[in-house]
Amino acid sequence: LPSEIYPDRRNSAGVEFGDRSELTALLEGIGRAGSAVAAAPLLPGYKPFGEETAVLSPADPSDQVGAVRFADPQLVKQAMKAARKGFASWSRLPVEKRAEALEKAADALGTSRDRMMNLLAREAGKTLDDGIAEIREAVDFCRYYANQSQRQFGKPTVMPGPTGEENRYGWRGRGVFACISPWNFPLAIFTGQVTAALAAGNAVIAKPAEQTPLIAYEMVRILHEAGVPEDALIYLPGAGDVGAALTAHPEIDGVAFTGSTETARAINRSLAAKDGPIVPLIAETGGLNAMIVDATALPEQVADDVVMSAFRSAGQRCSALRILFVQDDVADSMIAMIEGAARELSIGDPKIASTDMGPIIDETQRRMLAEHVAAMEISQSVRYAGEAPERGTFFAPHIIELDKASALKEEVFGPILHVVRWKSKDLEKVLKEIASTGYGLTLGVHTRIEATVGKVVSALDTGNIYVNRNTIGAVVGTQPFGGSGLSGTGFKAGGPHYLSRFAQEQVVSINT
Ligand code: GLU
Repeated sequence: LPSEIYPDRRNSAGVEFGDRSELTALLEGIGRAGSAVAAAPLLPGYKPFGEETAVLSPADPSDQVGAVRFADPQLVKQAMKAARKGFASWSRLPVEKRAEALEKAADALGTSRDRMMNLLAREAGKTLDDGIAEIREAVDFCRYYANQSQRQFGKPTVMPGPTGEENRYGWRGRGVFACISPWNFPLAIFTGQVTAALAAGNAVIAKPAEQTPLIAYEMVRILHEAGVPEDALIYLPGAGDVGAALTAHPEIDGVAFTGSTETARAINRSLAAKDGPIVPLIAETGGLNAMIVDATALPEQVADDVVMSAFRSAGQRCSALRILFVQDDVADSMIAMIEGAARELSIGDPKIASTDMGPIIDETQRRMLAEHVAAMEISQSVRYAGEAPERGTFFAPHIIELDKASALKEEVFGPILHVVRWKSKDLEKVLKEIASTGYGLTLGVHTRIEATVGKVVSALDTGNIYVNRNTIGAVVGTQPFGGSGLSGTGFKAGGPHYLSRFAQEQVVSINT
């Protein structure tokens, strides 16, 4: 059953950055793995043609990582035709065979570590720490869903019943899934969606984010080489128009989407507007994530966890901390300590081991952050603005003090921490303010008072609550990840029920 705990399951191993020889091997490997990638739609019978778009590194615009031929939205029809065929054969394979291909892909991803790290750093601006964590997460998704699919979809369960009939309860894939993934985890989330859909017996048409087509292309090739047929997994790089054509296609059977709440709504509307079956949407969207710190918290630990949660990955995680609620008795010293820690961050080339923060993904995103800070400067609430390199699309860490959390209406996707002070008698008010954002992805609590933890947990339906630690880096199979309300539909990625929405139940009752 899906809810079983797997005592034998292990997550993949990391890199010991403190070990000179491990680090040297990684850096040399990344240096050797720099050949350019030429990506184009991967679709049986399709010959790439047309214009190539250069993919430049956000960390250094003179570094061309590769090139991509984006799909035309017209190609969706051809992709659907192929994927229907792919579904017919892939869904009939025994579940163990499908799982075997995913396990093989996990192995191959492990051996391609340096090449993938090179791409993650150059195409997506990931630091070594972030990149290695992302590769591990992708490997873990492959293995977790391979394992899970065999437990959940292997043999039908014979249901108990009072009559002489035999009732077999089982699962089958839904058909062709569209997987639409974001640039902030161009490998892990892409792989998570695709492998979940495949493990459940679906064919997939995958559209990675326009900013990060190359890593996704490499991953699709790994999956093909591992035994996933080319018509069961189709790669369609493109902009929003390709995604829109996919979700509008009358024959799409399900959509997995990670990105903004606004786009998830647009997809939902597009699915609802179609005749025919009701199509499920699995959406993982944004967050206005908070952390509550009271006067009993350990200041050094808070500073460390806040900096990690707000600024790691340049704040470009949907789990990242956006609003810190700090109790007023300790606020001055706590904020000063956080500011001090933020000053120490090294911002720059993500391929260098000492770099803590890489670039923002592109100029559009960077400009949005700059505009947010400019708007806040008018009310003189910017308390700290760091410095960032001029070349590339970097943005320095910022700390902004607000009188009220409600001054922040929407997720600001970058290294900007907002701070609000609260009085010890006002915990309920803080909880109400957090609930009233409508989002419910991650939440941090720093306190030594157990009763406070209990109050917070029972008041809020936030999907992932972290107590006395940072709020990022959910681990597959350990911290199933996903939120409530404006943050998504569930089920949680890397959790025991995620595969269920990718499949459908079937009961066969036999009068013996
Ligand atoms: N799973 C990631 C984390 O726990 C966040 C995923 C996202 O940003 O979409 O940090």
